[in-house]
Amino acid sequence: MGEILIRNADTILTMDDDRRVLKQSDVLIRDGAIVALGQGLESGGEVINGQGCVITPGLVNTHHHLYQNLTRAVPGAQDALLFGWLQRLYPIWSRFGPEEMFVSAQLGLVELALSGCTLSADHLYLYPNGSRLEDTIEAAAEVGLRFQPTRGAMSIGESQGGLPPDHLVEQEKAILEDMIRVVDGFHDASEASMCRVGLAPCSPFSVSRDLMREAALLARDKGVMLHTHLAENDEDIAYSEAQFGCRPGQYAEDLGWTGPDVWHAHCVKLNPVEIDLFARSRTGVAHCPCSNCRLGSGIAPVRQMRDAGVPVGLGVDGSASNDMANLVGEARQALLLQRVSQGADAMSAYEALEIATRGGADVLGRPECGRLSPGKRADVAIWDVSGVASSGSWDPAAMLLAGPSQVRDLLVEGRQVVRDGQVVTLDLPRLLEQHHRLAQALVAGD
Ligand SMILES: [Zn+2]
Repeated sequence: MGEILIRNADTILTMDDDRRVLKQSDVLIRDGAIVALGQGLESGGEVINGQGCVITPGLVNTHHHLYQNLTRAVPGAQDALLFGWLQRLYPIWSRFGPEEMFVSAQLGLVELALSGCTLSADHLYLYPNGSRLEDTIEAAAEVGLRFQPTRGAMSIGESQGGLPPDHLVEQEKAILEDMIRVVDGFHDASEASMCRVGLAPCSPFSVSRDLMREAALLARDKGVMLHTHLAENDEDIAYSEAQFGCRPGQYAEDLGWTGPDVWHAHCVKLNPVEIDLFARSRTGVAHCPCSNCRLGSGIAPVRQMRDAGVPVGLGVDGSASNDMANLVGEARQALLLQRVSQGADAMSAYEALEIATRGGADVLGRPECGRLSPGKRADVAIWDVSGVASSGSWDPAAMLLAGPSQVRDLLVEGRQVVRDGQVVTLDLPRLLEQHHRLAQALVAGD
């Protein structure tokens, strides 16, 4: 693959173990990994000019539903609470098939790449009309982002007291068989892996207690990670107490859903006992501030989680509940939201960026990503701070206060995905045409 030298960057925010900030420095990349950081590095390979730029590790997105890019800003779901919002969207999603899954995933990953993301998880929990997890895996391979798809599932339909319509849920035996199939077929555990598969029943209110337990056993047997939605809002807590007789943290612990190989989305309503449980067990949290604002769910206690030692990463969540998936914007929202509830000194711009990079990588079990130091994977975001958004900033490295909302260049595993603000791995006008056509067909059939 050869070498790439990023030369003479204004600032490099390494997010390494010492959180070093380097000035006027270079990054040397070889065979997908970072070889050296410092001044005066030399290479016979490609050179990228870093002047006027801040360099960060690629941002990490720990929660998404990429298929939802085809259902943004749907009338009737724009102003609904979580459960009403789901009931408006389920009938539309039930008309999806493999092409919708593939095209929507590509569009979502392109949007993430432009906002600095190099590694994204995805949570796909419905499989209508022959859709399969590999529809999204193939999409990610073409875009060139590192991918952590999870085999989601729903098994409790309306007739059994669940939320989704019966035709969108699957039999639990078939779900477990397909979980085994996709892990065996697509999971790559290597350090340079571009695809790691996880298991992810949708939420405690859409699968049985048995499936939660079986998925946890299977994940441990296969050495893959577990993911679901937890403690998202007050309705969610009330449902848990009424149906299971306990709070979500207790439910998760009882079924084997705590540990460093588990991460839960939202956790807006975790109480101090649950925060302590997550910290002790190293259970991760995907914090989704824009989605929590959009659905009026509340403000997750991220300050308390971080202080207690809970691993926290950021998630944009699906585009139907955060109609815009700009990951660097999500990091800014995370810092603003902590300040709303806890004051102007509750979170710095640097800490929010740390959560968005190494924080997310740790949540996804990828400590070889999310930081720039020799031996780590070459996932690098290059931000031009010579433009309008940063002009006049006394501290351009405090990018979340005044800085660009899109990258100039993005490298994943040492390969260029974005160059001069353009995605270079696929034909974007063609993708937009396909995505627009599929969205129009869904609108017409509504
Ligand atoms: Zn979600």
